[in-house]
Amino acid sequence: MKSIRTVLADISPPAIFSHCHEHLWIKRGAPDDCPVFSLSEEELTGCFCRDIRNRRCGLIKAAAEAEPMSGHSRLLHTAATRASLLTNAPVLCHIDRGVNPLSRLAFYTDLGVAAESMILCRCDRAVYDLSLHIAAASQGAFLEYDTIARPKYHSDDTECRIIARLIAEGLGHRLLPGLDTTRERLRAYNNPDAPGLSYLRECFLPRLRRAGIAEERLRLITEVNPVSAFSFALKPQQYKERPPSGDPT
Ligand SMILES: [Zn+2]
Repeated sequence: MKSIRTVLADISPPAIFSHCHEHLWIKRGAPDDCPVFSLSEEELTGCFCRDIRNRRCGLIKAAAEAEPMSGHSRLLHTAATRASLLTNAPVLCHIDRGVNPLSRLAFYTDLGVAAESMILCRCDRAVYDLSLHIAAASQGAFLEYDTIARPKYHSDDTECRIIARLIAEGLGHRLLPGLDTTRERLRAYNNPDAPGLSYLRECFLPRLRRAGIAEERLRLITEVNPVSAFSFALKPQQYKERPPSGDPT
């Protein structure tokens, strides 16, 4: 049975209001000796699988740097792919400026990951050509849009227009709105002027309503789509998931 893996439990709600892009900082920065830079593809695959199986996370996070993909970046993305195939966990991949979302989607799908298990984020701010958004979503990938309350990049009106266009193309079932949160943008961290997690529901959804987006579409993108995007049936553990030597877990 499919469920959403959270750090507390696996849950299977019919719908859940969800922010689809948040950052949890356990430690600032990645030191040069961080194992992510030295482990082999097989060891990294084992690490990613174990984080899923030990309930440290419910998806595999990746980030696409500018093209062409470097050797080490290819290794990391291949490990993310293999971990997704071994566990069924979805992959959420940042798309930065200069990255073609279709080529990055093809990298994963060519190795066997279903497009429906791919969540491409940041296209709203990084990929100006909406035909690329439409093509990726038409293939089945989810588009996570998180340039909400980020005037540094573009206005909420622009964000509304991008969402309205994708909905008009019949792709509302592929959209996931979220806030690109850091401590500076969360009220709970003593920032009274920060948008905070309530911004999506209290400020941005009314704006979409005023732009003419129907209530059922708002529910689709904020409550129904997250269940589709984040639910998966965890595969039984396989012998290939070898931990790196000396890994305490
Ligand atoms: Zn992120």
